[in-house]
Amino acid sequence: MKKHWYEYLWVVSLVYLILGFFNILFAWLGLLCFSIPLLISIFGGDKAYCNKYCGRGQLLEILGEKYGLSQRKISPKILRTKWFRYGFLVFFMSMFLLMIWNTYLVFAGASLKEVVTLMWVFKLPWWWSNTSIVSNWVAQFAFGFYSVMLTSTILGIVSMFLFKPRSWCVYCPMGTMTQAICQLKHKKDNG
Ligand code: SF4
Repeated sequence: MKKHWYEYLWVVSLVYLILGFFNILFAWLGLLCFSIPLLISIFGGDKAYCNKYCGRGQLLEILGEKYGLSQRKISPKILRTKWFRYGFLVFFMSMFLLMIWNTYLVFAGASLKEVVTLMWVFKLPWWWSNTSIVSNWVAQFAFGFYSVMLTSTILGIVSMFLFKPRSWCVYCPMGTMTQAICQLKHKKDNG
C-alpha cells in the first residue's frame, strides 16, 4: 500500500537531532514541534498530531517494532496514572520555564553557557558550535531547547527499549497537554 507523506516525518525528527550536533542553532526549529501539536489540538480539537504527524512517535515505533529494539513489555501502571502524567508535565514545564529564565539572564548580560544539559543534571560541553553569528541569548535558548529535546528523546528511547515501542507517549508532556486541550474543547462543545 502506498505510504502517505506524513509517514516519513520520522526522518525530520532524526535530522533535527543530528543537525544539533553540527550547529546548536538548529535547535530553534524544535519550536515547530511545540507549536504545531498545540495549534492542531486547539483549532482541530483532535489528536491528529499524535496519531499521524509526530515524527518522534514514528521513530520510536520503527526502532521498537521494525528493528526489534523494544522488549514489548507493558509499561508500569504508575506511568499511566493521571497524577504521574500531570506531575511529569508540571515538572517538565517548570524546567522549560527555568530554561527561558536562563535565556533571559543571558539577554540581561550574564555569560553564555555552552553546554547541553542531559536529564536536567548532566552538563555536556558543546563548544564546537559556532554561535558567533547570533546574540548570546539566541544561542543560550538553542542550548536550552536542544537539551530539552535530547533529554525527552533519551527518555523516549529508554521507555521504548524497556517497555512497548511508544511507551514514552503514555507520559509525553506534549501528549498530555494536547489530550487535556481536546478534553476541554469537547466538554465546552457538549456543555
Ligand atoms: S504523545 Fe508525544 S511523542 Fe507520542 S505521538 Fe504524541 S507528541 Fe508524539
